[in-house]
Amino acid sequence: MTTFNELPVSSEIKKAVEEMGYENATDIQAQSIPCILEGKDVLGRSNTGTGKTAAFGIPTIEKIIPGNKFPNALIICPTRELVTQVATELRKFAKYKEGVKIVPIYGGQPIDRQIQLLKRGCGIVVGTPGRIMDHLNRRTLKLQDVNMIILDEADEMLNMGFKEDIEEILSMMPENSEHQTILFSATWPEEILKITKQFQKNPVRIEIASSQRTIDTVEQIYYEAPRGKKVNALRVLLNHYDPDLCMIFCNTKKMVDELSDELNKHGIKALSLHGDMKQEYRSRVMDQFRNGVSPILIATDVAARGIDVDDIDLVVNFDIPQDMEYYIHRVGRTGRAGKKGLAITLISGRKQRNGIKDVIRYTKTNIVRHALPTSEQLMKANRDSFIAKVKDACNEDITEESLEIANALMADGIALENIISALISMNYKNEIIDIEEEEKVKQYASDFDAVTLKFSIGRAQGVHPGNIVAAILEECDLNAKAIGRIDLHANFSLVDIAADKVDIVLNNMQHSTIRKHEVVVEIDQAPKRKNGKRKEREERQVKEKRRGSRTSKDGTPRRGANRNGANHDKSIRKSKKKKK
Ligand code: ADP
Ligand code: MG
Repeated sequence: MTTFNELPVSSEIKKAVEEMGYENATDIQAQSIPCILEGKDVLGRSNTGTGKTAAFGIPTIEKIIPGNKFPNALIICPTRELVTQVATELRKFAKYKEGVKIVPIYGGQPIDRQIQLLKRGCGIVVGTPGRIMDHLNRRTLKLQDVNMIILDEADEMLNMGFKEDIEEILSMMPENSEHQTILFSATWPEEILKITKQFQKNPVRIEIASSQRTIDTVEQIYYEAPRGKKVNALRVLLNHYDPDLCMIFCNTKKMVDELSDELNKHGIKALSLHGDMKQEYRSRVMDQFRNGVSPILIATDVAARGIDVDDIDLVVNFDIPQDMEYYIHRVGRTGRAGKKGLAITLISGRKQRNGIKDVIRYTKTNIVRHALPTSEQLMKANRDSFIAKVKDACNEDITEESLEIANALMADGIALENIISALISMNYKNEIIDIEEEEKVKQYASDFDAVTLKFSIGRAQGVHPGNIVAAILEECDLNAKAIGRIDLHANFSLVDIAADKVDIVLNNMQHSTIRKHEVVVEIDQAPKRKNGKRKEREERQVKEKRRGSRTSKDGTPRRGANRNGANHDKSIRKSKKKKK
């Protein structure tokens, strides 16, 4: 354990962190702060929630030249939320430092106001890559005095496609200047190491390893829900756990929107947050969530990255995250500051069952399977809690008005039992939420209601029908019965998919790989295939094309196929028509 008194930091900082309730420095802080103060480049990594903001923020503040017109430090963060969060945290550290101004800049906020603030002069600029580039291009942000450049959540910025922006910002740093480049990143993929190599000078690598990669105080459970019943399962679990503050993670923006619609439809008020939303709206959402006005927030990983809200008691993984590191980030939203937390993951189907095993292996934590509460259990629990509430209310004094109402009702000859029953049914709803396994899907029959999808791979790519089936089952988590006839062509394949599953297949298979080939999937626009004529024609074309390319060296016009493989005869006919 290292206390802040043992670290080479000023009394102003010590006073500020003490006020913030920090007693000991975390490992990443204890190791990074001295290094950064000494002027070294640092490449740091530690789990989420271990205080990386202070690890780079405190030494940065210490090194600012008070009252300098142009910034001495530039901090780059992936999202607007993180920019505001880091700026707010840094202001707290700098509370007793004279003349250290911090200006956050990000998209979605009027640029003029930011220009004004930058003009007035500041020591630290915290910004998103896009907005920083914007200001650099307008020359409203000057790098001439920057001697520290810090990338927070660097891997996330690369994932989000900010690679070029970041490289450009880094290479815009004044040449030969003796500046420090500091990188904090949850993972160190090849891309990060490349940036390190190119832009850092003998970086000190600080890595806080932990064998248990998620936070000990978080209990981790997974539930298996029948296919297509996940939303219902979630409703059951929200009812069961009745969290005070709950974050639900989805892998895509679309899923965030859909899930919040679904929940709201069933009377569960849920906020949602993803990158497509306007900044003002996002800030409002975060405030409502923080203040507990609306206790359920559905978010994508990127929108929620690094967001630090205390007292989240339940984290739900509505999907298994695509990136294992995300699981740790998600679960790290709860169980903060030594408090107890619960993280639950919902899975359905074989693929996700394997997925959860991967998560267990990766995180080295024991995520235990629990059975969903049965409808009966839930109904009973709801009824018990209603009875308890009524009992509680019965302890209150009888009001004048309610007595008058009761007397009026009885004067009309209504029995007491009827009055009570009416009041209860007005106040008590105990709906059965269906989470039962569906009946087995109907056998594939000739009247199979199918849509034909065209996959951009075929025999020429060495694909067999089995490859396509396997890929669809793997990617889409479907029953094999949803797949009908498959026709392989030279360079594409036609696949019949049960009409109600077409969207899933279109979404999930788009740009997936089958036998190492990227696949483009579209609804087949050709008239209904019946007798395989189209296939014959296609094959004839390919043959002719091959023949054509062998004999065309002498320049004689080829018959049958033109350059892009379109039917030659057809185009002649067409041009004749035109001439008429
Ligand atoms: P990270 O960036 O590593 O995910 P943050 O910098 O967001 O973590 O810090 C997570 C939380 O821990 C914040 O609420 C922060 O104020 C708190 N914190 C950071 N350092 C300390 C410390 N030394 N002692 C107590 N709390 C701390
Ligand atoms: Mg952070």
